[in-house]
Amino acid sequence: MHVVGNIEKKQMTQYTSYDLTTWGKPFQIRKNTLPKPVGQEVLVRVTAAGLCHSDLHVQKGYMDLGEEGKLTFAERGAELPMTFGHEIAGLVEDIGPEVSSVKIGQQVLVFPWIGCGQCEACQENRESDCTLMRIIGLKQKGGFATHCLVENEKFLVDIDGLDAADVVPHACSGITVYNALEKLGDLRDNEWMAIMGCGGLGLNAISIARAMGFENIIAVDIDDAKLEAAREMGAVKVLNNKSENSVAELQKLSGGRLIGVLDTFGGASTGNIAVRALSKSGRYIIVGQAGGDFLMPQVWLPQKAMTIRGSHVGNSPQLRALIEMVRAGKIKQMPIERRPLSEINQAVEDLANGRVMGRIVFQPDEEDSIEA
Ligand SMILES: [Zn+2]
Ligand SMILES: [Zn+2]
Repeated sequence: MHVVGNIEKKQMTQYTSYDLTTWGKPFQIRKNTLPKPVGQEVLVRVTAAGLCHSDLHVQKGYMDLGEEGKLTFAERGAELPMTFGHEIAGLVEDIGPEVSSVKIGQQVLVFPWIGCGQCEACQENRESDCTLMRIIGLKQKGGFATHCLVENEKFLVDIDGLDAADVVPHACSGITVYNALEKLGDLRDNEWMAIMGCGGLGLNAISIARAMGFENIIAVDIDDAKLEAAREMGAVKVLNNKSENSVAELQKLSGGRLIGVLDTFGGASTGNIAVRALSKSGRYIIVGQAGGDFLMPQVWLPQKAMTIRGSHVGNSPQLRALIEMVRAGKIKQMPIERRPLSEINQAVEDLANGRVMGRIVFQPDEEDSIEA
């Protein structure tokens, strides 16, 4: 208790987070001192935090580099204990004295892909190409918590009037596919694109591709229920790639004009199909990080004039553009499963086992949000 003049004001001093304390182990509840924002910092009370596939990789502690072994997050400079979660939305709870663009109580979405601010990429607002990223939810504390301190107001996007849980995946899944689709470039009326993997990234990719004007979309997944959801999101054709004839079937479905593949899974199984099914001058863009190695005859690159390109997350202008598209009603909402944050370990297991349709979005439990 804290007495201010005649008014008794209950002052919150702690907040709750679900942290990783040991690589490969479950997330654990922890109590932390509530930070007081200084300068241009903003304290956000989290109301929605999306669970991304990359949170599963960080929990495991490494990425699969196939023949090259593993790349651990410890090698990448991540330190434990850490609060992960990089799709974060909530209400502004407190602001530093120099903050001028957001108000207390405003609903905001956090842009988590913070660059160094100094390099050429950062100067051009291409934070995703910065080599010294200080990602929120990896290098600094993220959204699997009741509160999140954001280092500068410029990393917040206004989402007042929108449903926080519905739009929070755009901070990662949305801009990741938006960035990749811009790299994939335009298609002619008789050309086709395959979107491989119909999880949280893939379903959002279909919806955003449609909003960007792409129509000839073939959704590819091994789960018929997810392919059904893909049709709902706007895929014109679907293919279950459990089939041994996936390459021939994709070529047939596209009338021999498969010009783009956006791979949201990013494993050997999808890579092997993509480079074989693409037509001449085809473009294969990989955003998923399931990992491993895929093999292809090197001569195909010149012979098929093929482009293979990776794309990593997205940039702050793209997040603002996406939210404008949401406000304009252009983006069909992908399925969202709302779950209490305290069930994070069950959610991780369900996502790892392919039991999630669309995105799981956590909402902090009421008792955690009130006070310790
Ligand atoms: Zn993510
Ligand atoms: Zn930079």
